[in-house]
Amino acid sequence: MSTSTNTSPIVKDGTNAAAAAVTPKDAAAVILLREAQGEEALVYWARRSEKLAFLGGFHAFPGGQREASDASTRVLNCEDASRAAMISCAARELFEEVGVLIARGAHALTVGQRASLLDDLASARMSFAELLDHYGLHLDASDWIFAGRWVTPPFSPRRFDTWFFLVRCPPKQQPALAPDGELDQGEWTLARDAYARWQRSEVLTAPPVLHALKTLADGLTGDLTRRLLSIPQAHGEPVRRIEFRPGFICYPVRTPTKPPATHTNCYIVGSDEIVIIDPASPYEEEQAALAGCVDELLAEGRVPREIILTHLHPDHMGGVNALVRHLGGEVKVAAHRLTAEALRGVVEVNRLIEDGEIIKLGGEPALSLRAMHTPGHARGHLCFYEERTGALITGDNIVGLGSVLIDPPEGNMRDYLSSLERLRVLPFLTVLFGAHGPAMGNPRARIEEYISHRLEREASILAALREGAHNPSEIVARVYTDVHPKAHAMAQRAVIAHLEKLLADGLVTRQDNDHYEAQERDEG
Ligand SMILES: [Zn+2]
Repeated sequence: MSTSTNTSPIVKDGTNAAAAAVTPKDAAAVILLREAQGEEALVYWARRSEKLAFLGGFHAFPGGQREASDASTRVLNCEDASRAAMISCAARELFEEVGVLIARGAHALTVGQRASLLDDLASARMSFAELLDHYGLHLDASDWIFAGRWVTPPFSPRRFDTWFFLVRCPPKQQPALAPDGELDQGEWTLARDAYARWQRSEVLTAPPVLHALKTLADGLTGDLTRRLLSIPQAHGEPVRRIEFRPGFICYPVRTPTKPPATHTNCYIVGSDEIVIIDPASPYEEEQAALAGCVDELLAEGRVPREIILTHLHPDHMGGVNALVRHLGGEVKVAAHRLTAEALRGVVEVNRLIEDGEIIKLGGEPALSLRAMHTPGHARGHLCFYEERTGALITGDNIVGLGSVLIDPPEGNMRDYLSSLERLRVLPFLTVLFGAHGPAMGNPRARIEEYISHRLEREASILAALREGAHNPSEIVARVYTDVHPKAHAMAQRAVIAHLEKLLADGLVTRQDNDHYEAQERDEG
């Protein structure tokens, strides 16, 4: 969906203030259909550009955020003003993104006329409402079948209250993606083929798209709308159990974590035997919700193998003891040795996980997680790599929103950058499952962005040292001009981490405890 085109790194060292979940914005999406053989639906979908910070690399339907002008478009056969505005939003977004114009009277337009209309809209010469009026066209609500209203769960940095509409593509029109738009690789697909691709872990989609594909795959029957609307999530109840990929369930729980994050993602991995990674919440109601999800999975026939911790932080292990108790003390806890040592007396770790260990999980799909010891954010930090599907559980090393804090002595910038480099060179990567925020379908771009962000900071810190800043607080004042003063204490921790790396690299010297000098540059 066309939200903002923010492609800048969302990683900032210790910025941001409020920890409240973001309020959802109105949006609309279009399930564009064309009939294929018999009862089978051909549906149009496209991949969101890798450049997008939010759900980049995911497959989605055309759509986007409501604009103020959407309320002024005339929609016939619609009594309800908000529904009319959302139909207008859907029609405008569909036209802007794929060039398909669903309006009464549009059949009389030639391909050239439609292109010129699109140009008027894209160049803002006319609003969508003006354009329809000018060419004697109008929207009719009966062309737009309501197919559900889905709200992004509160763990996301961007949230939408999205109205879905089923629409028939006029036979004479063919979707074509706007160049340099938010969508690429658009195609018509049989809904069951698209769903099968998701089942084979070849594509990523968000829950409403998956639900629509699964429902459409069962046929274009008379009760299609009833089936689309048959679950509470299609009426605005946020999804809790998010299956971005078969065998990987993301279950965000509310935690006392670092803003802007409000939740930590617990991952339940496996189709038969399951491991539960980071049961994170210290809050009773959240622990009960997670226990309910695990019970549901057990009732579906899955068997708990063990609980795994990515690292020691309280917003990752806050619910371990409660979950162990809930499972009758039968399920063991596993973590890296350094995590186990740090948590002695708090959490009983029964098994140690070393770098390179393979955790094989049977069932369909069979998954095997390779543990990677990736220190930097925390000494005992583990990531888990599933080679066949290219999925990487990144813990706090790479997250879907907010920043990763490198706070010495637990944090170490040199280790962190080598850990990121190890992740970057993994042979096959399709998705990053971070401990906070949505999954990331643009893994390489994301890892490279993380590395270059840190290296840019490092270069600015060296420059600041050469220009006369000599201690962490002077450096913060010069370098972290994009960060709110309230976050300066946290930024200082990051600067100290960078200085320690520069000392180890031999690029900086420390003259006494708090006075740093850049090494003379070799001019030869
Ligand atoms: Zn952490």
